[in-house]
Amino acid sequence: MFIGHYAACFALKKVEKSASLGMLFLAVQFVDILFFPFVLLGIEKINIIENFTQSTHFELEYMPYTHSLLASILLAGLIYILYRIVSTGKKSVALIMGIAVISHWFFDLIVHTPDLPLWSNTSTKLGFGLWNNAIATYTLEAVLLIGGLWLYLSGTTARSPIGRYGMGIFVMILLLVNAVNIFGPPFGNTEISLAISALIMYFLFAGVAYWLDGERS
Ligand SMILES: [Zn+2]
Repeated sequence: MFIGHYAACFALKKVEKSASLGMLFLAVQFVDILFFPFVLLGIEKINIIENFTQSTHFELEYMPYTHSLLASILLAGLIYILYRIVSTGKKSVALIMGIAVISHWFFDLIVHTPDLPLWSNTSTKLGFGLWNNAIATYTLEAVLLIGGLWLYLSGTTARSPIGRYGMGIFVMILLLVNAVNIFGPPFGNTEISLAISALIMYFLFAGVAYWLDGERS
């Protein structure tokens, strides 16, 4: 899953208003933000295979350190502890950030083919395989994201014209990017270009979310 993960950010922001939306955007993709550098370092493995599913051009071969359920729980715990240390110990924000990290695995579970291990690479691997239906995948992510946006907009108020329209326009751009992602050709034709373009997008989107959130209160 790609942009659908951001639905969790909007929902969690509604629950804990003092959590940073920009940091939530990074937290829900934290598992992937580690995965792609791990791919570049040869620690985990993705293979470019055109039309591997209707929605993707890659096979996720080996990723126990980021995408196992156990790893996701540990990473969520790590972020919780880091937040308790750095964010002057505000427990609710740390908890929300931990939930954001672990949400990645459960959102991925719906769309992935059975490639998400429970703990090690040889343990049971799960994935409900919605990626095999591109229209269903696109629709699910769009519904999640728009639902999240609605929650966010109903819980905050604009402080400027950018605040009023910005987040809606941003979500429309995300929907467009995901249309290209799901229905278009591969982002990159090598594992390296895929990894780098994904990382650029994660940080760019988090930066935009941070900026636009600052225009609302
Ligand atoms: Zn992932």
